Amino acid sequence: MKKLIRLSNHIYYYPYDTHGDRPNLYYIKGKDYSIVIDAGNSKRHVEEFYSALKQNNFIDPKYTIITHWHWDHTFGMKYAKGEKVSSIKTYQKLQEIKQYKWTIEEMNKRLEAKIENSFCHENILLEYQDLNDIEVDLPDTYITKDTTYNLGDLEIQVLFGTSTHTEDSIFIYIPEDKVLIVSDGDCPDYYISQEYLDKKKLTDMINFFKSLDYEYHCLGHAFPETKSYALERLNNELNKFTI
Ligand SMILES: [Zn+2]
Repeated sequence: MKKLIRLSNHIYYYPYDTHGDRPNLYYIKGKDYSIVIDAGNSKRHVEEFYSALKQNNFIDPKYTIITHWHWDHTFGMKYAKGEKVSSIKTYQKLQEIKQYKWTIEEMNKRLEAKIENSFCHENILLEYQDLNDIEVDLPDTYITKDTTYNLGDLEIQVLFGTSTHTEDSIFIYIPEDKVLIVSDGDCPDYYISQEYLDKKKLTDMINFFKSLDYEYHCLGHAFPETKSYALERLNNELNKFTI
């Protein structure tokens, strides 16, 4: 088990793990209540996270907000606490995933049909020794537009910004702590390519980040970056486009 890492005044995170492709899980600690960002990839992942919270005497969250539909951020949802909230597109995509069968034969079929990619396929098999343990759950509710949560001593904004990663990605902005939780939102769409293919989307996303005043650019599967480092990294990608 890992330890929670303090990022800022109100924000902590349980660090990512490349084994099983577990993402960072963020805990935003307010005076009145707390919010967790992302549900983790399995029961075991969620339980580790909640043990780490307990070690710090942190209360259970009122909400768990899901950044996007990918398995590593959602398959722990059944065990995550508080009201689970996602964007409407995430909710709809998970309704589709919920119909999937989790046998190795069905998984192989989805891999061949390119419904699944090999990276996720392999990591699902690493995380789940018994595929019967996979239970896809739906969020309790969904949002359709930018939404603000008031935690007493700070506000967080859930923003529908442009993402190069998925159509359903949302971003969590905490102005008071100068933090933007991007999760995987600024990655390429790995279901299509390892590279950024849509110049307009990449440009719009960079402009979206520029429009926000923050310092910590918080990712799904890496340690937080500074905003300036992230913008430099993304501008380098933009410069690779020849037209
Ligand atoms: Zn993702």
